[in-house]
Amino acid sequence: MSQSEDTTAQNASLTNHDRKPIHLPGSIQPHGVLLALSPQLEILQVSNNTQQYFGKTSQDLLGQFLNSLLDEQQVEAIKQCWRKNIGSVNSYKVLIITNNIEQYFDCIVHRTADVLIVELEAMSTTGYAYASRTEVSFLSFQGLVSDAIAQMQSTSNLTQFLDLVAIEVRKITDFDRVMVYQFDQGGAGSVVAEAKRADLSPYLGLHYPATDIPAQTRDLYMRCKLRFIPDLKAEAVNLVPIENPKTHQPLDLSLSVLRSVDACCVEFHQNMGLAAMLVISLIKEGQLWGLISCHHHTPQYIPYEVRKMCEFLGQIVSSELAHKVSHSEWDYEVKLKSLQSEFLASISQADNFIDALIKPELRLLDVVSASGAAVCLDNEISLVGVTPDIEQVRALIEWADNQVRDNLFYTDSLAKLYPDGIVFKDTASGLLLLRISQVRRYYILWFRPEVIQMVNWAGNPNPSIHLVDGSVTLGPRKSFAKWQETVRLTSLAWKQCELDSAIALRNAIVGIVLSKADELAKINLELERSNRELSSFAYAASHDLKEPLRGIYNYSTILLEDYAQVLDADGIECLETVIALSVRMEALINALLRLAQLGKAQLREKATDLNELLNHVIDLFRASRQYSVFFDIRIPRPLPTIPCDSVLVNEVFSNLIGNALKYNDKPEQWAEIGYLDRIKPHATGQTSLPVFYVRDNGIGIPEHHQETIFRLFKRLHSQEKFGGGVGAGLAIVKKIVELHNGQIWVESTVGVGSTFYFTLE
Ligand code: ADP
Repeated sequence: MSQSEDTTAQNASLTNHDRKPIHLPGSIQPHGVLLALSPQLEILQVSNNTQQYFGKTSQDLLGQFLNSLLDEQQVEAIKQCWRKNIGSVNSYKVLIITNNIEQYFDCIVHRTADVLIVELEAMSTTGYAYASRTEVSFLSFQGLVSDAIAQMQSTSNLTQFLDLVAIEVRKITDFDRVMVYQFDQGGAGSVVAEAKRADLSPYLGLHYPATDIPAQTRDLYMRCKLRFIPDLKAEAVNLVPIENPKTHQPLDLSLSVLRSVDACCVEFHQNMGLAAMLVISLIKEGQLWGLISCHHHTPQYIPYEVRKMCEFLGQIVSSELAHKVSHSEWDYEVKLKSLQSEFLASISQADNFIDALIKPELRLLDVVSASGAAVCLDNEISLVGVTPDIEQVRALIEWADNQVRDNLFYTDSLAKLYPDGIVFKDTASGLLLLRISQVRRYYILWFRPEVIQMVNWAGNPNPSIHLVDGSVTLGPRKSFAKWQETVRLTSLAWKQCELDSAIALRNAIVGIVLSKADELAKINLELERSNRELSSFAYAASHDLKEPLRGIYNYSTILLEDYAQVLDADGIECLETVIALSVRMEALINALLRLAQLGKAQLREKATDLNELLNHVIDLFRASRQYSVFFDIRIPRPLPTIPCDSVLVNEVFSNLIGNALKYNDKPEQWAEIGYLDRIKPHATGQTSLPVFYVRDNGIGIPEHHQETIFRLFKRLHSQEKFGGGVGAGLAIVKKIVELHNGQIWVESTVGVGSTFYFTLE
């Protein structure tokens, strides 16, 4: 067999072993008799030990009806069990007379799909070799149990409670050792309470690997809450015939009290030096939480009624357990819940929810009891507490994103899954990652440090593997000597309530972010509408103002031209002022109109060669009389061709060049038009974005005005100076640049010159 085949066979047989059906052994333990009955109560199968109990062989009984053993009244009671649900167990006291000897039996009856299983255990020790406590009356057991319950209920913490459970069960059963055994999530268990004979070495705190109690045994413990083996050495008694003669199926003994013991289990417990055992299941919230496991070093019989009491006690413990366990967890959960609501309140009020998350830092850590956290919003990562560095966190998110299920990924031993994580095991052996949005790459990560633990196992927990007939099987462990393991690369485990807390936080963030986005969308809509209204109003108002204004201008001109002779010098001056003011007012109205039009403008973008566009602008300047003085326009390198609205961009350059020459008192004026290359990050890498500029050697702009000049009607000079604009040019330029999603700003030194920069994205 090759190495790899060998490994596969090993894995396969380990699971096969797990699947060996222990509920169909075809045999029982010898401390009672089993009958399998048809619906008509015909005996279909019987254990091969009836001679010892009833003086009749199995052959004598097979094919007979139950009334060949029991009287009518008893038969009638048992018959009723057919009407009961599959799995419900009933018990009776029955009398069987054999050779004039009266013998009482505990008769335990339950139904499977097609047969009624009747199990009979003799009620006195007569004829049965084991030491027994039947001498102690049933009533005194009942007293013991109610005392036990009262005491247990009075304990306040779980450890105290489980200690008492062990002590009380030991009192009732009189076994050498009683342990309370708790399973972890992986099925491994540890002894959490113990009561024992003084001379025995303690098992308290020892851990048992999951393989000690295979999955199907655990399943059976869920269904059958008490398992009793009075003598591990006792030879099993076969059923006759071995299969149901009608269905040819083996008999399902899952709920049988007498079911024989699996050979593996016998060997395991004999290796531990045991002779008798009693196991009571502890169930919390529908899961097998643990076991009360009672060991004895010599055979020990416990009557059915006492076992029933123990089972009842197990149920009480189970229900108290939920209560007691939740008591200590409850405080913690309440604390987490209050942190959550604090979060909720601050996130919903904050404009920036990242700030609300990471301030105060401790709250983000406490909400899942972590020692470090990272909040990742797209490419931005904020670290809180003790964490790996930003690049390590970034790489970790890349990896962990593929592991996320239901927006969550968590592990208490990261390095075992993510080998690169070994370098930051001290800060992040435990990881809890919460995905808030995949589209936006929003995550919160919490970290816990490595906690090196010494685990005391009851023997080497690695399964002993045997090679039998060329195939590998998992054998029971032989050694139970304390075996210490150092568990590394592991943090404290994440509790369910901590995971719940993380998920609750996510829901809150998603809810709040979404409702914020909704709110913003509404506000935007509203703004857009009022903007549109405002533009329409400005447009209509300025448009309508032009007509009376034109009238004022025309009539003043007529007055001046035709009636100048009847006016004195003051009158003429007044009229000239009216005309000048109306001209100025028209300029203002035109500027307003232009701006209002821009508010409603749709960009008509097309590839535009800016060199051509500039030539056109410059030609116009040269042609205009205003700039007939010598001026120089420099273009150091050809401009690019870009997509833009050429008419509007023409206006931008015209305005800026116009200002460059207008606000200039130098004898040799110049303007330089060019562009710089700016590298800009982009989804698919980097692109270069031209930053255009218009530079002049003009009068310059004081620093405190470098922003205000872009406001409408903002002028820094009186009308007479520098050509008397209306102060709308830069507001229009800014509007056009913003329509192109660009930006505009100025750098300037008074007396030296200014440079206006702008982008058009
Ligand atoms: P106007 O249409 O009156 O020129 P602008 O909006 O174009 O108004 O400019 C606003 C103000 O900014 C101007 O009054 C001027 O004082 C100042 N300004 C604009 N461009 C320059 C420049 N190149 N150099 C110096 N000052 C300038």
